[in-house]
Amino acid sequence: MHNVLSIDVEEHFQVHNLETGVPRADWDTHASRVEANVQRVLELLERSRVRATFFILGWVAERHPRMVAEIAVRGHEIACHGYGHRLVYSQTREQFAEDLRRSLGCLREALAAAPGLPPVDILGYRAPSFSVTAAVPWALDEIRAAGFRYDSSIMPATGHDRYGMAGVSRFAHVLPNGLVECPVATVRLGGRNWPIAGGGYFRLFPLAVTRWALRRINREGHPAVIYLHPWEFDPDQPRVAGPSAWMRFRHYVNLRQTAPRLERVLNEFTFVPLREALAGILPPPGA
Ligand SMILES: [Zn+2]
Repeated sequence: MHNVLSIDVEEHFQVHNLETGVPRADWDTHASRVEANVQRVLELLERSRVRATFFILGWVAERHPRMVAEIAVRGHEIACHGYGHRLVYSQTREQFAEDLRRSLGCLREALAAAPGLPPVDILGYRAPSFSVTAAVPWALDEIRAAGFRYDSSIMPATGHDRYGMAGVSRFAHVLPNGLVECPVATVRLGGRNWPIAGGGYFRLFPLAVTRWALRRINREGHPAVIYLHPWEFDPDQPRVAGPSAWMRFRHYVNLRQTAPRLERVLNEFTFVPLREALAGILPPPGA
C-alpha cells in the first residue's frame, strides 16, 4: 500500500494561526526562509528516495521561480496552493476564481522558465487551511473549472476552529463534477473522524501514534495522505506574536522533531506523489 507525503509550500509567516501577528501588507518586509526550508525537505526526500507532492503558493512561486523548477527537476509533483493564502470562505466566488487563475499562472511561468524541463501538468489543488467547507458550495466547481483534476481541500472532520466538513468520505472519491476529492489522513474513532497525520498533529502526537494511524488507514485499503510545511523543518524561525497561547503552541510545538520523525516514517512506509496514488480514478486530461 502506497502513502502520500504532501508539502504545502508557504513562508513561515503566512499562516492563518498567526495572521493577526503578521499583516498581509507586511509580507514583503519579512526575510524569506522558504528556499532554505524547501532545500532541507528536498535533501531529506533524496536520502529516503521518496517523491512527494508540493502544493505551492503562487505568491511564493512568483518570488522563487527557480525553487519551483528545482522541485520538479527532482521528480516531485507540482500542485497548487492558491495565490494569496486567503481562506476560500473569506472570498467571493469571483475572487476565488481569480486567485486560482493567478496562482496557476505563477506556477506555469516558473516551470516554463526552467531550461530543459519537460512540460509539467498541474493536476491538483489544496486550499489554505482546508477552507473548502459547506459555507462555499461553489468552490469545487470553480476548482474543476480552473482545470484541476483533483482537490485535497476538504477536512472530513469537525471540531477544529477553522475547518472541517461532516459527512464527507475520508478517502479519495469522484465528485459529480468529475473532480477527484482526496482528503488528508484521518482516523475514525469513537464515531468521529480525527485529523492525525499532518502539521501540528504530526508534531504533537508521539511517533507511535502516527505509525499506528498509517497502518490502520492502510488496513482499510487506502493510502494515508500526510501534510507538512517547509517551516515545520525550521526550528530556528523567528517567532511571531499569535492571537492566543494555544495557537502559538500548536504552531511551534516540537519543530525539532519534524525531520527525524518524518525520516523514520518515510523509511518504514512507501510513498508516491498524490497524482500517482490517484491515477486509477483521475478524469482524463481535457475531460
Ligand atoms: Zn497553507
